Amino acid sequence: LSERLQNAISSVGTGGQITEADLKQMMREIRLALLEADVNFQVVKTFVRRVNERALGSDVLESLTPAQQVLKIVDEELTELMGGEREEVILATSGPTVMMMAGLQGAGKTTTVGKLANYLTEETKIRKPLLVAADVYRPAAIDQLQTIARQLDVDVFSKGTEANPVDIASEALAYAKDNGHDLVLIDTAGRLHVDETLMNELRNIKAAVQPQEILLTVDAMTGQDAVNVAQAFNEALDITGVIITKLDGDTRGGAALSIREITQKPIKFTGQGEKLDALEPFYPERMSSRILGMGDMMTLIERAQKDYDEAQAEEMAAKIKDATYSFDDFLEQLDQVNKMGSIKDIIKMIPGLNKIPGIDDLNIDEKDMGHLKAIIYSMTKEERANPDIISQSRRRRIARGSGQDLQAVNQLIKQFNQSRDMMSQLSKGKTSGMKKTMRQ
Ligand code: GDP
Ligand code: MG
Repeated sequence: LSERLQNAISSVGTGGQITEADLKQMMREIRLALLEADVNFQVVKTFVRRVNERALGSDVLESLTPAQQVLKIVDEELTELMGGEREEVILATSGPTVMMMAGLQGAGKTTTVGKLANYLTEETKIRKPLLVAADVYRPAAIDQLQTIARQLDVDVFSKGTEANPVDIASEALAYAKDNGHDLVLIDTAGRLHVDETLMNELRNIKAAVQPQEILLTVDAMTGQDAVNVAQAFNEALDITGVIITKLDGDTRGGAALSIREITQKPIKFTGQGEKLDALEPFYPERMSSRILGMGDMMTLIERAQKDYDEAQAEEMAAKIKDATYSFDDFLEQLDQVNKMGSIKDIIKMIPGLNKIPGIDDLNIDEKDMGHLKAIIYSMTKEERANPDIISQSRRRRIARGSGQDLQAVNQLIKQFNQSRDMMSQLSKGKTSGMKKTMRQ
C-alpha cells in the first residue's frame, strides 16, 4: 500500500498550488492503492471524496508543498477513518469486569483471551483474571485454554463439554465474585460461517452476564470478509470493540481501514503474532503513519523540494560525527523547522531517525519556538558551542536573562541532549565512542 501511495505523492508537482490535474492524478493512485489493499469499495469512495473536498477547499499553507499538503490531509483522514482517538477497554467500576469474545472459528478468540489476560494484568489495575471455557463444541478448545492459563499462571473455569455455555458463563461470574477475581474473560465458540444458532447462543450469554466488553476478533488475512463478518456480529450483538488478529501476517491492512467505518465500533487491539504478549493497543494515528510509510515518503518529498539544503544536512551529520554539534546548530535547525513545519516531520525526513523507538513521543512545542530562541540567545558564545559546560548556576543565569523560568531552560537542554543523542545514532557503529566524547 505504501509504495503505491508514495509514487502517487511524489508525482505531484512542487509548485505553490495544488492544481486540479495534480489532485486528480493523485486521487486516482490513492484509490487504486486502497482497493489493492482490500479496503471496502464503499469506504474507498467516501474516503477519496473527503480528501478531495478538503484538498481543493484548503488554503495552501506557505510552509508546505502541494504534495505535503495532500499527504497531510490523507494522513488526517486515514486517522479519522480508523476512529481518530485510541479507545481504551472498559473496566467495571465495581465488581469483576466481564469481557466476552465473539468471532468465527480460527479468528483467534482463545489465543486473544490469553493475550488480554496478560496485557490487562500488566497494563491496568486488573490482578486476578478468570478464563472461562464456554466453547463446548470442540473438546480441544478447553485444553487449549487450559494450556494458555498454565503459561500465564491464571485460573480457568470449566464445566467440561456437556454443560450449556450460557450456564457456564453465569456460574463463572458467580464463582469470580466469590473468589476475588477482578476479570472474567469468556472464551466462546465460533463457526466457520456466521449462523443464527451461534448468534443466539452469544446473545444469551450476553444477556446472562452483561459484559462490559463484547470483543469481536476478526482475522486480518480474510480481507473483505472480515468486514462482512464484523457487520453481521455487530448487528446481532452490538459489540463494544474489535480486535484485528494476525496483522503480523497481513501487509495490506485493508481490514483495519474498513471495519471502523462500517461498524462504527472502535478497534481496540491488534494481534501481532501467536505468542501471548503479541497484543498491541490500537492507535489510529500510528496505524495511519505505518500505512503511509510516512518516514520514507517524507524523504521522497524532501528530495523534490527546492528549499531543502542537502549540503546543510551533510554538514550537520559531519558535526555529529565530530561531536561538535552545538546549540548554534540546534538554533539553525529550529529555524529550518520553523520554515518547514513540525519538528516531527523533519525528524521523520532524516533517514534512519524515523525508525528510532519513541520518536513519536518527542515533543517540542512549535508555538514556543520564540521562547526557545530567547533562551539560546541568552547563552554565551562559549556555552552555545559547548553545551556540556552549562552548569546549574549558568542555567539560572540563562533563565533570568531570557525571562524564562529555570524549568524551561532545563527542558530545552534536555531536548537538545535528546536531539543530539538521537542524531548520533545516524552514524552507526560510532555511537558509543561518540557519546563518551560528548559527555566529557
Ligand atoms: P479461535 O478458534 O477463534 O479460538 O482461534 P484460536 O485462538 O484458536 O487461533 C487460531 C490460530 O490462529 C491459532 O493457531 C493461533 O495461534 C493463531 N493466531 C491467533 N492470533 C494470532 C495473531 O495475532 N497472529 C498470528 N500469526 N496467529 C494468530
Ligand atoms: Mg477457540
